[in-house]
Amino acid sequence: MERTFIAIKPDGVQRGLISEIISRFERKGFKLVGIKIMVPSKGFAQKHYHALKERPFFNGLSNFLSSGPVIAMVWEGEGVIRYGRKLIGATDPQNSEPGTIRGDLAVVVGRNIIHGSDGPETAKDEISLWFKPEELV
Ligand code: ATP
Ligand code: MG
Repeated sequence: MERTFIAIKPDGVQRGLISEIISRFERKGFKLVGIKIMVPSKGFAQKHYHALKERPFFNGLSNFLSSGPVIAMVWEGEGVIRYGRKLIGATDPQNSEPGTIRGDLAVVVGRNIIHGSDGPETAKDEISLWFKPEELV
């Protein structure tokens, strides 16, 4: 069954949005198959965002992801990669539709509270970066 990697970034955790975000994925009908809380090191954050290493915001983004606790999760279900991104909304909360997580709960792109894998290959890579196979049910 299809799986995706979802992370609540430090701003989402700090703002007390963990249950709100988990609840949206649960209510949709997706299944939580892995979850943990951790503070990623800067090197780990850079690995996670390696595809963006040429972007001007890469350093700030990596610093931010490693600035506090992150909730790392794996969600499972039919179409969960694509539909998970729909639940999350557009990257820049200024463009995210109301009803989406970023549309309802965030304002600026640098503090957009949640990450979701953008395709089958990145989902596979991100799940194996953040989780050992025995940490998933
Ligand atoms: P994510 O990978 O976090 O789920 P995304 O796939 O919607 O987000 P990406 O293009 O992968 O968007 O960008 C990764 C993250 O980099 C964004 O979530 C955002 O926090 C940050 N980011 C993207 N564009 C900018 C920007 N122009 N300025 C600052 N930060 C940015
Ligand atoms: Mg992305």
